[in-house]
Amino acid sequence: MSPRTPAAPVPIVLGFLARAYPDARILLDYRNPFELLVATVLAAQCTDERVNRVVPALFRKYPDPRALAAAPAEAVEEAVRATGFYRNKAKAIRGLSAAILERHGGKVPATMEALAALPGVGRKTASILLGACFGVDALPVDTHVGRVSFRLGLTASKDPVRIEQDLSASVPAGRRWEFATRLGWHGRKVCAARKPKCPLCGLSTVCPRNGVK
Ligand code: SF4
Repeated sequence: MSPRTPAAPVPIVLGFLARAYPDARILLDYRNPFELLVATVLAAQCTDERVNRVVPALFRKYPDPRALAAAPAEAVEEAVRATGFYRNKAKAIRGLSAAILERHGGKVPATMEALAALPGVGRKTASILLGACFGVDALPVDTHVGRVSFRLGLTASKDPVRIEQDLSASVPAGRRWEFATRLGWHGRKVCAARKPKCPLCGLSTVCPRNGVK
């Protein structure tokens, strides 16, 4: 992509995404903010489908922060083993459960500051919680959102924090959560990491990356 190649116009991208993915949503299963928080941590380096298979048994045994914080480390490790990196993940979800209990009386907080201060919770995870559970117009930048935004010329960065800043400057307030959720779907279904399906892509006429190897 030449530095002078114009970025795909955001209104066109938004319009396309709304038509193509009207029902886009978080693919992790959850019944409350605590479950989504834990599932999001478990989804690192793992597919959402696999996490969805693991969490029902986990939450049957440990349904809330108090139960998970008090659970033996080995038992939690075993319960999340199938998601990979299970020792670190077990430590993270027990740690964040303890912090929610101590700092927030067992209730998942609803601000970026408080969420991102929980152990093992980064800005992306906090944004997912805010958007999915608390109705905040957050803009989580995962690998799909970052990749497709870069290819569309909406950012020149590969750093998630910078990408979020760039997108927040061009995507109107009120449509950022919708944008991130739908763009993530486009990344999964069409604009794949290794082989983007440019000939089938509804953004091909405005995408500066279209067809570039
Ligand atoms: S044209 Fe190709 S690179 Fe551009 S958004 Fe579509 S699939 Fe991705």
